[in-house]
Amino acid sequence: MGRKQEIPPEYHPITKICIIGGGFGGLYTALYLHNTWGFKKQNCQIILIDQQDHIVFTPLLYEVITGELDSWEIAPSFQELLKNTSIQFYQDKVENVDLKTQQIRLENRGNLTYNYLVMAVGCTNGKLPIGAENLLTFRTLADTKNLEQKLQVLENSCPEKIRVTIVGGGPSGVELAGKIGDRLGKRGEIRLIERGKEILKNFTPATRKNARRALDKRNVLISLQTSVNAIENNQIIIWQAGETAIIPTDIILWTAGTQIRDWVKNLDCSHNSKGQVISQSTLQLVDYPEVFALGDMTEVIDPSGKQLPATAQVAYQQASCAAKNIWASINKKRLRPFRYLHLGEMITLGVNTAAISSFGISLSGSLAAVVRLGVYIQRLPTLSHKFAVICHRLKVWVRNLLGK
Ligand SMILES: Cc1cc2nc3c(=O)[nH]c(=O)nc-3n(C[C@H](O)[C@H](O)[C@H](O)COP(=O)(O)OP(=O)(O)OC[C@H]3O[C@@H](n4cnc5c(N)ncnc54)[C@H](O)[C@@H]3O)c2cc1C
Repeated sequence: MGRKQEIPPEYHPITKICIIGGGFGGLYTALYLHNTWGFKKQNCQIILIDQQDHIVFTPLLYEVITGELDSWEIAPSFQELLKNTSIQFYQDKVENVDLKTQQIRLENRGNLTYNYLVMAVGCTNGKLPIGAENLLTFRTLADTKNLEQKLQVLENSCPEKIRVTIVGGGPSGVELAGKIGDRLGKRGEIRLIERGKEILKNFTPATRKNARRALDKRNVLISLQTSVNAIENNQIIIWQAGETAIIPTDIILWTAGTQIRDWVKNLDCSHNSKGQVISQSTLQLVDYPEVFALGDMTEVIDPSGKQLPATAQVAYQQASCAAKNIWASINKKRLRPFRYLHLGEMITLGVNTAAISSFGISLSGSLAAVVRLGVYIQRLPTLSHKFAVICHRLKVWVRNLLGK
């Protein structure tokens, strides 16, 4: 019998891998997959789809408010990030996915068929109260610009005090309170409203204590066990200790709660009660082995039976697992379960101050701020972007040192 002739790679049918969402889950999956050894020899095409033209590196979003970082550093465009890769980027909004026919419906480009699909579209702001048109949210670069503009107008119009009310005592609310406190200095009158008994409820006692201390130092008034009834023009109506109170305020920032996008809730697969899709430990959907779902839109139970938190840390680690498993699936190898390693927690508490708790070690103050920034710069996407940020930071540091 003659030797079986190998089909040259250029005649293999193209495997189309579509990735929806260019955040911590999606963009990093695309980059890991693209950098996988042997990927370039396979006849694969990666298409990354996002409604925005840039990623938002959310852990460093607060630094834009205080001018510690520029927006290009924490929200680089996909075009810039992907310029030296073969990953194709489509700026478009996904309206739906038909899992049965393997088709994505895009707002502008129509239908797109895939062989493999990665879904990582995150979540959106939670349900907002009556009068929500007067409040600001803090999730995107546009939100940061709105807040920045509003602060600037108030700073220039010279009221004696600038009153800011932040709703939600989770990490976003606490980090915003610290940064805005430092930006406004003595002119700031900041109140943090939390429905529960404590701020930062899922954090370690050490981080909570450091946060409390930092907010006290900035005269942030913390109202615990307080809920918001309604929002009107320049006031917020709260319910506290069995009574209603009206708080006059110039800015209301809403950071409480998140929700899953409607089209994700309606996908033809298993969901939990919040509407998150349920992924198996390999990050595949139960009836659709060609579909991987990760990040905030997904419920994944870790081997100890705990549901993983909706954090960048989880999505980032899942991205590497998803990339390896897609590669294994293409090459007919065994897929591996996702194992989460909790590396600790880091939050900013003002300009050049932070709190870190990792593997039993707690750190706070300016050293923690330097470590936190270093860790996050190392996590930014692509080598060339990291390099550009490091060079820029060094230039700024030298300029400040020379007092110019
Ligand atoms: C202000 C802030 C600070 C945070 N700080 C931290 C922190 O310090 N540490 C931490 O671990 N976590 C932090 N988080 C949480 C973290 O950002 C999320 O857990 C993480 O981004 C989840 O990654 P993801 O890939 O699931 O979604 P995302 O990173 O949110 O990415 C989703 C992407 O999908 C795109 N998208 C959504 N819908 C569509 C659609 N229909 N069509 C096309 N594209 C779509 C979006 O534009 C977005 O780019 C923070 C969150 C916020 C809001």
